[in-house]
Amino acid sequence: MALSSTLKTHLMEIINPANGQVIADIAADTTASISSKYQQLLQGQQSWLSVPLPERIARLSRFHELLGQHQDRLAEILTSEVGKPLSQAAGEIRGARGRIEFFLQESEKWLADEWIAKSEQYGEMIRWEPLGVIANISAWNYPYLVGVNVFVPALIAGNAVMYKPSEYATLTGLEIEQLLLEAGIPADVFYTVKGGAEAGEALLELPLDGYFFTGSYRTGQYIRQKTADKLVPIQLELGGKDPLYVSADNADVQAVAQAAVEGAFYNAGQSCCAVERVYVHESVYDQFVEAFVEEAATLQVGAPTQEGTFIGPLTRASQPSFLAEQVADAVEKGAQILFQPPLPEGTDSGYYFAPVVLGNVSHEMAVMKEESFGPVIGIQRVSDDEEAIAMMQDTPFGLTASVYADNFETAKPIMDRMQSGTVYWNCCDRLSPSLPWSGRGDSGIGWTLSYLGIRAFTQPKAYHLKGKFSEK
Ligand code: NAD
Repeated sequence: MALSSTLKTHLMEIINPANGQVIADIAADTTASISSKYQQLLQGQQSWLSVPLPERIARLSRFHELLGQHQDRLAEILTSEVGKPLSQAAGEIRGARGRIEFFLQESEKWLADEWIAKSEQYGEMIRWEPLGVIANISAWNYPYLVGVNVFVPALIAGNAVMYKPSEYATLTGLEIEQLLLEAGIPADVFYTVKGGAEAGEALLELPLDGYFFTGSYRTGQYIRQKTADKLVPIQLELGGKDPLYVSADNADVQAVAQAAVEGAFYNAGQSCCAVERVYVHESVYDQFVEAFVEEAATLQVGAPTQEGTFIGPLTRASQPSFLAEQVADAVEKGAQILFQPPLPEGTDSGYYFAPVVLGNVSHEMAVMKEESFGPVIGIQRVSDDEEAIAMMQDTPFGLTASVYADNFETAKPIMDRMQSGTVYWNCCDRLSPSLPWSGRGDSGIGWTLSYLGIRAFTQPKAYHLKGKFSEK
């Protein structure tokens, strides 16, 4: 398979966002190495499929164990390249292990042959066959979580995987590859492709059997266009502009503010389902804003390796200036900065951005319409539930939406009207391995997690059987 792209040998610099220093130089993949990996995966997938399902599950179970054994070291590596606080890095690995446990427990059930009809001389059966060799093009903000959503169920189902970690999470990607190998996944069944956009581009040229992408809307849309003539599954898990509504039906506004602050600022707001905008009923607005700012002021900003840090540096060098522009645009259009502490000393050389809380915001401002992906939040006053619904729905994105209300009867009709893959009552910024994770509109197509996220890496084959048959 000749690729038209010409990726030559070069080194990728891995930078620590806490101080801007180069921590590693990694040899990126070339056109030749990507082609060679693909050829090996084609062979490897056939052998992998002949490994019985319980054995494939056993090997992923070993990977789960190894992640646990190496958690502290892996958390340090993750922190060194993406800048998230160490405690949050360890939390991410624990969360990823929880998701793997779900796949280990549920996969046999959902991948088993499904008998729809069965009699002496007639049978109808569905077999869930793997797709083949798939691409897993991944993001940097939760490389373990968004990675395991794809490559674990894909491998269990019998696929081979070309895994392209984000260029900002390359060291983590290499650790994942190493541990999978140690867990007994053959070398020609899982390959990490090292590189940036151009390496991802090379994958789009290959005749892969499925593309599973996590990242920005812009790249997702591009990938969809580039792969349109392939007629293989294309899944896109993209960004969001996730709203949270605080209705009048809230007795403990302080507790709601605490939850909202965590939802907005965890991982420095760099979560696809981070709370990105808040609407508050006018009857509780002042109380909520006061409690929100008070809570935000308790968050420690600083080095990710320092005990107690909640907001570390942002991962990408360009993000602080992008956020500063969003804030400037909002202020110019009448927003009020309710909170913006000075950055602590010693943060000059890193990609830090102090959290910002904006009041008096409107949908004329980019901060209420475009994904911020950082510690910036706008809080808008609304006069009733109808206005809140209209504002929450005024977006092309549809990842999650959250409603806080003491009574389910208040929240449920609002949740029912949200055009998003996930709705929350009295919680936010969370996922469950048992529930499908999906976006609507510009937040993507397809899904991961849950039994649907096991079958997403398979294709059904219908067996029509006439005559005497066995169930093997
Ligand atoms: P990104 O789109 O910049 O990059 C994602 C991946 O695509 C990287 O591996 C990158 O190298 C690769 N890539 C870039 N250009 C490419 C091209 N032309 N062809 C092929 N591959 C290419 O996104 P990011 O900055 O890594 O991630 C942040 C975004 O991801 C945010 O918008 C966030 O909301 C979203 N996200 C969504 C989810 C979800 O579950 N919906 C989860 C995590 C992150």
